[in-house]
Amino acid sequence: MSLKPLDALTNTFGYPAFRGQQDKVIDHVLAKRDALVLMPTGGGKSLCYQIPALCMDGVAVVISPLIALMQNQVEALQQLGIAAAALNSSHPREDQDTVKTALLKGELKLLYIAPERLFAVGFINLLAKCNVSLFAIDEAHCVSQWGHDFRPEYLKLSILAEKFGNVPRLALTATADTPTEKDIIERLGLQYGKIFRAGFDRPNICYRLTSKSGGTAQLQSFIDSEHSENAGIVYCMSRKKVEQVATKIAQSGRIALPYHAGLSADIRKETQSRFLKEDAVIIVATIAFGMGIDKPDVRFVAHLDLPKNMESYYQETGRAGRDGLPADAWLAYGLQDVAKLKALMQNPDKSQQQQNLDHRKLDSLLQFCESALCRRHLLLKYFGEDAPSSCGNCDNCLTPPSQFDATEAAQMAFSCIYRTGEMFGAGHVTDILLGSETDKIAKFGHDTLKTYGLGKAWSRADWQSIFRQLLALGMLNIDMEGYGGLSLHESCRPILKGEKPLQLKKLTIPKKGKARTAKS
Ligand code: ADP
Ligand code: ZN
Repeated sequence: MSLKPLDALTNTFGYPAFRGQQDKVIDHVLAKRDALVLMPTGGGKSLCYQIPALCMDGVAVVISPLIALMQNQVEALQQLGIAAAALNSSHPREDQDTVKTALLKGELKLLYIAPERLFAVGFINLLAKCNVSLFAIDEAHCVSQWGHDFRPEYLKLSILAEKFGNVPRLALTATADTPTEKDIIERLGLQYGKIFRAGFDRPNICYRLTSKSGGTAQLQSFIDSEHSENAGIVYCMSRKKVEQVATKIAQSGRIALPYHAGLSADIRKETQSRFLKEDAVIIVATIAFGMGIDKPDVRFVAHLDLPKNMESYYQETGRAGRDGLPADAWLAYGLQDVAKLKALMQNPDKSQQQQNLDHRKLDSLLQFCESALCRRHLLLKYFGEDAPSSCGNCDNCLTPPSQFDATEAAQMAFSCIYRTGEMFGAGHVTDILLGSETDKIAKFGHDTLKTYGLGKAWSRADWQSIFRQLLALGMLNIDMEGYGGLSLHESCRPILKGEKPLQLKKLTIPKKGKARTAKS
């Protein structure tokens, strides 16, 4: 190996040091091993393959679904004097031929392609004639049907393992949960499945969640009082709502532009460029907005409707404060959102298993909303990172919510789950606690349990909140791939045995009198 990674970093890219896990990933690739790299957007994934590309003989092939980003990267690399090129269908034929010739002559260090290119007639054979140093598969979550952005052509990338078994493959993504990670490793046939994960924390973002009551007015007052001169993004679920909210904010004298897939390409382009170039523009958008937008000084991202899951929340809020200066992630959620999202998830085009998973993922997000714990801690935990239990820069850390003694309620819930064999969902367990007369209760004889009707001091909504909080605390597990059955986690034992009290976030609905003590 002629060039050392650190020399490439300093001499070619002009950076003094590696960030986070970059050097570990690079060493791993140079040792010709496969890996999955999980880093947030802006975390520095590109160097993880660009540097090995420079240090190894031959050409690194980068597979990316985003043609616009591909073009930017290639231009940036060329400006640094690196022999990089892209092959995509938007280029004229002659240009494509020039690139192919350079490729065959071994003149390129990096070649960027869209996944479908790999399956164009003769392309695999062309690559087989070149000395390929590594494959980098960007946006690797697209290979997984669990991901939010499944692309069927990514499935065919398994061909790389078959045809180029000795060439290391590096899969990279900013968003993956455990099922998606497993999927990426399996479908791409990554040997040994080494995962590098780092840097999901965005310490300058202050996370704030509030329950919704007249959402637009709440948003307006948040913007007026804290971001009267700042650029920001407001996410809404529907196009209609985007238009309404944009109009409303514009009436307050701000520049607020709607953005959704129903607007013409010209208008969307114009909106994007105004957002990037002018100061203090507010974009009100559906999730159609954001991919590939790199504006460093977005001071707030607001959600007026719930995102689909934790991944989306993280990705969307992550567009705030890229410059490292303080920024807000603000969200207002209501139970109607949940109903709407659940209805949307009932999509006949999706398999039952996928629908179940979508529901479970939404539940994780609800637990996050519901929790009295540090938002950052929970968010990072979801992505598999350890974080201190308190960050000092989220609503729950800054103004801890009031709590109540939930020891009895938790004991009832645990006991009821245990007595019914740890296989029923929160709805059925709640029915038992409330003493409801349902067919399911009759069928299983659950009306004979000691906990039957024991929880009447709380309402159904209270119980929902209690279950979500117990889940958020990790005292209960939920069967993510099945039907949402609840089971007990070891950590519930001291509470069940009465050795430890439990505080939960105060319920929004007033309690009716005192609860009885659970005996079973
Ligand atoms: P990602 O692909 O993970 O979204 P990028 O690879 O585009 O992130 O990197 C984000 C930014 O961070 C880029 O401007 C890049 O040049 C910069 N960067 C990455 N690694 C380093 C480093 N070790 N030192 C300084 N800047 C870095
Ligand atoms: Zn916190």
